[in-house]
Amino acid sequence: MHEMGIAEKIVEIALASIPEDVKDPKIEKMNLRIGKFASVVEDSLRFCFSIIVKDTPLEDTKLIIKSVPVLVHCNKCGTEWEVDNPIFTCPECKATDLEMLSGREIDIDSIELAD
Ligand SMILES: [Zn+2]
Repeated sequence: MHEMGIAEKIVEIALASIPEDVKDPKIEKMNLRIGKFASVVEDSLRFCFSIIVKDTPLEDTKLIIKSVPVLVHCNKCGTEWEVDNPIFTCPECKATDLEMLSGREIDIDSIELAD
């Protein structure tokens, strides 16, 4: 289950983002962007996260997860389109020389500290 590793990384980054002069910090919200092809199961990620954050400033953090669509660019004719399955052929020129622009990312958009 690689969601545990991802959750650990997210918590690590969040903890590092807390300014040192904040007393008794609490992180209220974290906004994540996860690509549809990042193969992250959202429920597993939330579950792993909830285990790791026990007794940390992230214990009550709300995870807001935004799913990022898979965007593909054709290197031959320049067409860009969104895909739902992993079979890639350009709909315009049938080329297979393609580049994935988004869809695999696991990004932290923002981290919000409670007042
Ligand atoms: Zn094309």
